[in-house]
Amino acid sequence: MDNFPRRPAGPGMLALVGGAMTGSTGARGTHRTLSPGCCPRCFLGFLRLRGPHMHPMVKPALRRGWRDLNTVQFGMTPAHALTLGPVDTATGSFLELLNGTRGLPLLREEGRRMDLPEGHVDRLVTRLARAGLLDDARGGGAAARALREKKEVLDRLRPDLASLSLVAREPGEAIDRLAARRDLRVQVRGAGRVGAVLAALLSGAGIGEVDVLDGGCVEPWDVAPGGLPVEAVGERRTAAARRAVRRAAPDRPARRGPGAPHESHVSHETRESHESYESYGDGEPGHSLVILAPRDDLTVHAPDPVAAAALITSGTPHLYAGVVEATGVVGPLVLPGQTGCAECLHRGRTDRDETWPRLVAQWRSGRRRHVRPCDLALATTVAGLAAAQALAFLDGESPSGVGVRWEVSAPGLNWRARPVWPHPDCPCGAGRKPVAEDTSNEGASRETMAGQRPSSTPCRRADAARLAGTWRAHV
Ligand SMILES: [Zn+2]
Repeated sequence: MDNFPRRPAGPGMLALVGGAMTGSTGARGTHRTLSPGCCPRCFLGFLRLRGPHMHPMVKPALRRGWRDLNTVQFGMTPAHALTLGPVDTATGSFLELLNGTRGLPLLREEGRRMDLPEGHVDRLVTRLARAGLLDDARGGGAAARALREKKEVLDRLRPDLASLSLVAREPGEAIDRLAARRDLRVQVRGAGRVGAVLAALLSGAGIGEVDVLDGGCVEPWDVAPGGLPVEAVGERRTAAARRAVRRAAPDRPARRGPGAPHESHVSHETRESHESYESYGDGEPGHSLVILAPRDDLTVHAPDPVAAAALITSGTPHLYAGVVEATGVVGPLVLPGQTGCAECLHRGRTDRDETWPRLVAQWRSGRRRHVRPCDLALATTVAGLAAAQALAFLDGESPSGVGVRWEVSAPGLNWRARPVWPHPDCPCGAGRKPVAEDTSNEGASRETMAGQRPSSTPCRRADAARLAGTWRAHV
């Protein structure tokens, strides 16, 4: 038959009989501002408030198919598909009207015209909404309304909006999330094959301000599709990367707040004297996220805790990404004081292998190679996964990179998760916290780190694999 789990349909109409709408937001926000997916009481409150304005729409991102005469399936993939049934013919026809062009009063009228029982339309809308199948064509707050008025901008972002509608449960939530991206500030440190592409991706996905920092000038080997163009060779890396970011943005160039860094923040001389971006950038408040995407392979492999000290102090979430040798690395996503940081990583490695500091010292003092290995496809893959994790975090989800370094190596290209456990002696304090309880039911927001937690399952799986495997020089 198929792979979709189903329970037998109960008596009566419109029983939801199976599916896996797994948007992790479903469980959060208990009674938070009348979340319609929370409980029937919340939904009724939501309907009273939004009902007159709501234009219900069965999420168009989900393809529809009839499994039999009375059972309709929304969506194709196990992650998001749901089945609804039994559905009588009249209700099946009525579903076609839930396309965002009609408000609830008009829909009720249509229901009466189609001889649907009294209250049936409201029950249908309620159940669809509670199952996470319903969006609101006019939903969302003021920022969402402003975005809708920018048709050209929204047209650029429509596939992203459709994708967000699959992970956001509540009607109008997807466009709220998309609109919220426009007010976020993200800094990307490093404008090589990974950093420049990553910054452009975030900008293209609607992040309002993506600031890039790097030193030196663009070299021919920095050029990458989606990142720095060949015309930029010889220009300042920072300036060229910022231009790439502006080109990728669906809207006008990012606004600059009074506290935003700008190119004169560090003199060109200072920049030239540093191979790496990490010597500057102070983790100033106001960045929702800082991404460290160094061009230097050693910095990718063994991130210098000193470079992130200010980020830890200011409580700025930060994410590591880069390529070392033929291995791509994404993570950890560090939530200061809560999850393992670069210093935790270093201390953990030293605990497991006492020669680790000696090796790092040799690598640091060794002669720098002129051009480091950085496979173009691998770099783009890393940029893509890092951007996806960054967006998930910024959207308020718990991405899988919290407390984990994802690694992928050529030629096998199988992603594996390596845990970055909080170290009990690390000054960041994450290791001194009591073991976090499951916070999946707690509220999460893009403004705070509440609800973000380490993804323990891949950590444990990876750790078990490491312990059971042969001795590895790589710690
Ligand atoms: Zn730490």
